[in-house]
Order: sequence, then structure tokens, then C-alpha cells
Amino acid sequence: MPDPKQPVLVSACLLGVRCRYDGGACSNPSIRELARHVEVIPVCPEQLGGLPTPRPAVEIAAGSGDDVLAGESAVLDEQGRDLREAFLRGAAETLALAKLMGCRSAVLKERSPSCGVREIVRAGERLPGRGVTAALLAREGVRVLSDETPHLTELLLEPDASDP
Ligand code: SF4
Repeated sequence: MPDPKQPVLVSACLLGVRCRYDGGACSNPSIRELARHVEVIPVCPEQLGGLPTPRPAVEIAAGSGDDVLAGESAVLDEQGRDLREAFLRGAAETLALAKLMGCRSAVLKERSPSCGVREIVRAGERLPGRGVTAALLAREGVRVLSDETPHLTELLLEPDASDP
């Protein structure tokens, strides 16, 4: 059984929290199953960054979240406003929460400009790269997993198993 002292950070929308940009959720049955076995800490980096819900859709303007962290890309909403400050604040707050709660792993919503682990979306196209929060967590040593990773619960029960 998992160590209950090692909670897992989870994108709140995956648990049914209506925090998505469009005011909806993206509840994922495998994440709800995970929550039966490990303590999960729901978090929405964009809300933590101070953005309202609902809010305009955004895209990382160039590159990926790593480029936003490096100050080399903007995060633009549909009106062309640069929201990178809010995205950076949300990522920093999420990292602070991970440290406070002792989370060494995170399961994040794929393809979000904050939470995407392997892909983001720009101009309707899926591109390789991770979101701003995923990039910061990974850089700080948090094991970041996509919600689309098969056998998530088993993976998190075996902390040394390699990610697929
Ligand atoms: Fe879900 Fe992350 Fe987007 Fe918040 S920022 S709605 S947790 S994908």
C-alpha cells in the first residue's frame, strides 16, 4: 500500500473541481481511483496565480513552459494579453504547496499551458513540451506524471519504478 505520508499533488480539474478556463472540469476516473489509495492535494496553478474562472483560453507563445520560466516566451490570451506573471506566480505557489505538504510526485492534466507534462497546444496543434508549472516542479525535483500515464496508481505505489 502507498505511504500516506507522501501525498501526491494533483491538478484539481482532474478530480472534478470546476477550475478550467471555461468553468468546467475534466474529471478522470483513474485519478479518482488514485485518490482512493493515496492522499491527494488538489491544486489549480492558474487559480493560484490569481486568474479568475472562467477565464480566456491561453497559449504559450513560443517554445514551452521551460521557455516561459527562462523569460523567453510570453503566455498570451485570446486578446493578446501577456499573462506570464500570473502563470509564473501560480507555478511558484504550486511548488511552495508541494514543499509544504511533502509532495514528491505530481499528476497533472496533459496539454494545459500550466499542467501539460508531455504536450502543450498552440494554434490547435499538439506540440511536444510541458506547461509552466510542470516545468518548474520537474526542475525542482518533483516527479511529474501525465494524467494519461497508464497504471498511475501502480506507478505511484512503486516510487522507484521508471516512468513509461
Ligand atoms: Fe486544471 Fe491545471 Fe488548468 Fe487548473 S491550470 S484547470 S489544474 S489543467
